[in-house]
Amino acid sequence: MVEVTVLGIAQDGGHPQPGCLRPCCANLTEHHYPVSLGIRSDEGTNILIEATRHLGDQFTLWGQTHVDHLLLTHAHFGHVDGLGLFGRETLSAQGIHLHVSEEMYHLVDQTPQWNLMVQQGVFEIQTFAVDAALYNKGELTIEPIRIPHRDELSDMHAFIIRGPNKSLLFLPDHDTWDETLTVHKCSTLRQWLSAMRIDIALIDGTFWSEDELGGRDQSKVPHPPVLQTLNMLGEREDGDPEIFFTHLNHTNPLYDQDSEQMKQVSQLGWGVVHQGQRFTL
Ligand SMILES: [Zn+2]
Ligand SMILES: [Zn+2]
Ligand SMILES: [Zn+2]
Repeated sequence: MVEVTVLGIAQDGGHPQPGCLRPCCANLTEHHYPVSLGIRSDEGTNILIEATRHLGDQFTLWGQTHVDHLLLTHAHFGHVDGLGLFGRETLSAQGIHLHVSEEMYHLVDQTPQWNLMVQQGVFEIQTFAVDAALYNKGELTIEPIRIPHRDELSDMHAFIIRGPNKSLLFLPDHDTWDETLTVHKCSTLRQWLSAMRIDIALIDGTFWSEDELGGRDQSKVPHPPVLQTLNMLGEREDGDPEIFFTHLNHTNPLYDQDSEQMKQVSQLGWGVVHQGQRFTL
């Protein structure tokens, strides 16, 4: 049995987002951590995707405090800012297999704090290639998928986690459906998910709509809005995978279970993933 635990559902800034005094972040009873997944293999190996600054809370949620393998999708802040917690000042971990792309490896190598941790034996770096599984033991296989996303620091990879019965796609960030589908030579989202044999898809739901970006220059924060994804998908049909939105910006109305927007998502047969939710693959 392979078990995946959702350790965070927020965009990089978290929810509440530091500095936000608006109703979306004021007086919250529940905090949402930046996206992360904990995977426990059938052999008892612990694999963590993303290193966030809420690692401690996420360990509590997961019920695990030991990481054998750490996978990073890309270099944006919320996905990597917890890397330092594995070092001497905090966990004093040794020999964690850090799986990164070739580009991400260069960034680790050129970042003095991270490079030092590699020299101290905290991380053993293993670079992955898109045409091969990065992990394949027992009943668990993990494959990286190349994804177009702002690449000023590193490239970006989604991960497919395959257990004995089901496969889960983790796609927290991308720029546009157009670019993602074109890279993978598919014309529709359904076709792409079916080509990858996905049963459960956790996909980029950063913004509900373009309005949410307010006066910000949209080209600087490109994520396909949930509304656009819903228009592409329409209603869930027989044989469709389960699709859940994740990586929600603090302004996203989908944090509110009772919002009109949330009703719209569920009426079409899709969902928003919960922090702490577990999937057995
Ligand atoms: Zn992100
Ligand atoms: Zn806010
Ligand atoms: Zn990003």
